[in-house]
Amino acid sequence: MNCPLCHSLNLTEYFNTTEKVFKLPKQRTYKACAQCSLVFLIPSQRLGPAKEKLRYDVHENNLEQQGYKNFLMQVWEPLKQHINAPAHGLDFGSGPTRALAELIEADGIKMETYDPFFKPEFEVKKYDFITCTEVLEHVFNLNLVLNKLDELLKPGGHLAIMTELLTCKINFAKWRYREDDTHVCFFKEDTFKYISEKYSFKWVYFDKQRVILFKKSVS
Ligand SMILES: [Zn+2]
Repeated sequence: MNCPLCHSLNLTEYFNTTEKVFKLPKQRTYKACAQCSLVFLIPSQRLGPAKEKLRYDVHENNLEQQGYKNFLMQVWEPLKQHINAPAHGLDFGSGPTRALAELIEADGIKMETYDPFFKPEFEVKKYDFITCTEVLEHVFNLNLVLNKLDELLKPGGHLAIMTELLTCKINFAKWRYREDDTHVCFFKEDTFKYISEKYSFKWVYFDKQRVILFKKSVS
């Protein structure tokens, strides 16, 4: 087994538990990577694609809920300071709705969406910016997905990531973000430092909780 982000073999056991899921005991083992600090569920314990999609079908995300709109504004508010029309953005891992894309379009910015389960076809080109909200914690092959994001981003373009940060204040055993069985990867601040160095992304915004904004280098 190696790290799904940096492929290092230098892994340690981070947390191990047996939990009741629908009354049946389920083993969950998490590893931590010494090179990039990623914490991840071991691959053999991930959900299969059919079960995974079932979970996503019940996610209720629409802009009529003010709470959800406020949640997405945590990404768009800092990102829009760096975006000037005409710009073309991609919402990568949009889920079943175009909620974030619509929120951005309301500010006059054109958006494309992609989701492996709900909208697999999209325009392949270089985008001015990419949003990736509540997505990376679900990804099995992080290295592949980050390479793809890098490929789809123009030099000087912005990548906005939202995923709840694993900080030293979090009690991993009781963390509801961990308990979601579609969440397989957890990011520490050092994990974002690794990503920043590997892809030559400069940090332009970080709320130290869940939102990070990278700018891809121009050359
Ligand atoms: Zn790693």
